[in-house]
Amino acid sequence: AAKNAGGGGHRFFAAAMESDAQQRRALELDLRQAVAGEAFELHFQPLVNLATGRITTCEALLRWHHPTRGAVPPSVFIPIAEETGLIIGIGEWALRRACEEAARWPDGVKVAVNLSPVQFRDRNLAAHVVSALARSGLPAHRLELEITERVLLEESEATTHAIQQFRTLGVSLSLDDFGTGYSSLNYLRKFPFAKIKIDQSFIRDVDCEAEGRAIIRAVAGLGTSLGITVVAEGLETKQQMAFVREDGCHEGQGYLFGRPMPAAEVSERIRGAIARPLLVA
Ligand code: C2E
Ligand code: MG
Ligand code: MG
Ligand code: MG
Repeated sequence: AAKNAGGGGHRFFAAAMESDAQQRRALELDLRQAVAGEAFELHFQPLVNLATGRITTCEALLRWHHPTRGAVPPSVFIPIAEETGLIIGIGEWALRRACEEAARWPDGVKVAVNLSPVQFRDRNLAAHVVSALARSGLPAHRLELEITERVLLEESEATTHAIQQFRTLGVSLSLDDFGTGYSSLNYLRKFPFAKIKIDQSFIRDVDCEAEGRAIIRAVAGLGTSLGITVVAEGLETKQQMAFVREDGCHEGQGYLFGRPMPAAEVSERIRGAIARPLLVA
């Protein structure tokens, strides 16, 4: 009986895997159609200066409204887009769309765009950046490109070259999800980051976890002495904001200041915050 149960369990497991694989294939096909039909939307989430309450930047975040499944989160479709190479086209679209939108915002506000490691295998990446800026008229200094350590792991010549080109263009580089990788400190030494974004996993338990705060304080100190702006990601409560501010973070991002929102909404939010800065103290 035990053997049967084991066999059944195995069969059950195999069936579950198969349906996962099937679901994935289905999603992949739908993703290809979405690319063809440009069924994506960008939402934007503000980054706020913790001293002034002003919006410094808005981060562009991809949204996919699936015809039958509804909203599919980036954590589900980005990995598929990366494995299939579709992220190159989607990423190019996001870059163009983000610059176009940001060109309408007040001068002081930047836009941040996430880049996947796979996009760095595209020899035309820097050319896409140049063209997105040219078509939109957005000045290069108002574009921030967010990368994670995953981009730097390979240390490929193509990656180093693209980063060099960004620097020459005057586009700035942010290190996203800081603290979740392996050797971030080495990357800070080697690459010209203007911003570090401390991963939200460090912020989540900041109210009750002394270690988390010690790390945030250390990173903020490090960033400050290197002239790098330090951002706390995932701020949801006033308490968390107060802590990270006290610990020396320069900017914050999270539901506390606003969820990622459609373009029309974010541009109103930006204008509102100029008239009346957000409360940060
Ligand atoms: P990320 O770049 O680290 O973006 C921050 C994520 O945290 C976003 O999730 C945002 O909605 C979420 N977030 C912001 N504030 C809070 C908060 O207070 N609490 C919580 N729980 N979450 C918060 P989202 O939009 O689901 O995106 C997930 C990831 O997908 C992004 O992480 C990024 O790695 C990737 N992604 C999104 N858009 C793009 C894109 O255009 N290109 C590429 N390559 N990746 C993208
Ligand atoms: Mg990001
Ligand atoms: Mg992040
Ligand atoms: Mg993330």
